[in-house]
Amino acid sequence: GSSALSDYDKLHVLGHGNGGTVYKVQHKRTSAVYALKIVTSHPDPLVRRQIFREMDILRRTADSPYVVRCHAIFEQPSGDIAILMEYMDSGTLQTFLRSDHNNSVSETMLASVARQVLRGLAFLHSRNIAHRDIKPSNLLVNAAMDVKISDFGVSKVMCRSLDPCNSYVGTSAYMSPERFDPDTYGSNYDGYSADIWSLGLTLMELYMGHFPLLPSGQRPDWATLMCAICFVDPPSLPEGASDEFRSFIDCCLQKEASKRWSATQLLVHPFVLCKLEDKSESAY
Ligand code: ADP
Ligand code: MG
Repeated sequence: GSSALSDYDKLHVLGHGNGGTVYKVQHKRTSAVYALKIVTSHPDPLVRRQIFREMDILRRTADSPYVVRCHAIFEQPSGDIAILMEYMDSGTLQTFLRSDHNNSVSETMLASVARQVLRGLAFLHSRNIAHRDIKPSNLLVNAAMDVKISDFGVSKVMCRSLDPCNSYVGTSAYMSPERFDPDTYGSNYDGYSADIWSLGLTLMELYMGHFPLLPSGQRPDWATLMCAICFVDPPSLPEGASDEFRSFIDCCLQKEASKRWSATQLLVHPFVLCKLEDKSESAY
């Protein structure tokens, strides 16, 4: 049936970002709860195109349980766009990081996070979609501890003939080394392996309790960060990490994109397989 934005009550704000504001909303008749992302209309045609690209990608990701479900997209006469999504009631992995007082997440739990994100990435990559902004704040969690990929603001449907100058380039601490290299970017730049790099950094951050390319507590300054990404050996896990986890991170954080494992390969890495054999999903 057809639904309209007026069928929903705004409850409160869930988060703000570059892309817009996200509200918790409730359907008036059924009382069902959703998340609603409102992206305000933008005068810049490049930004508008980016928003339409996000909408197009969202319409193509509806059937993966590892990607936040998009239920409807409302285009307002004002030009604003409202995206009705599945509500993830436990926030993002970023808030998880902050609320965890030990500053460390168990390997069993990280293996479960890795497996779910890899399944989401395998789904996206098989449909020629690179996410391009994998990081803790774009991975949402619910009470069942399902982890799902969200925020397709900078994703791109990979297209070989696309002019690299026209593609949106986000800047993020989770960007892979080849994103800085004008020779590879746009020619054999492969957004799929860049997602794997970002996942490797994300898992390390969850384990260590701070962003792994910078000393704990250091504010991210862009020059230091770029040096760490491009000119320093990839970070490795501190003592105490298992060999399987160490090897998994190694496979993700190869500086040379072609040496990084794919999502499908990593799904059968011993870290993902063995760590889950010990305990059932509910154990974490
Ligand atoms: P941005 O492009 O602004 O980063 P996001 O889509 O990442 O937009 O959303 C911003 C924040 O809103 C997230 O970091 C998260 O805290 C919250 N949020 C987004 N989507 C949902 C959702 N489906 N359920 C619950 N919270 C969400
Ligand atoms: Mg975001």
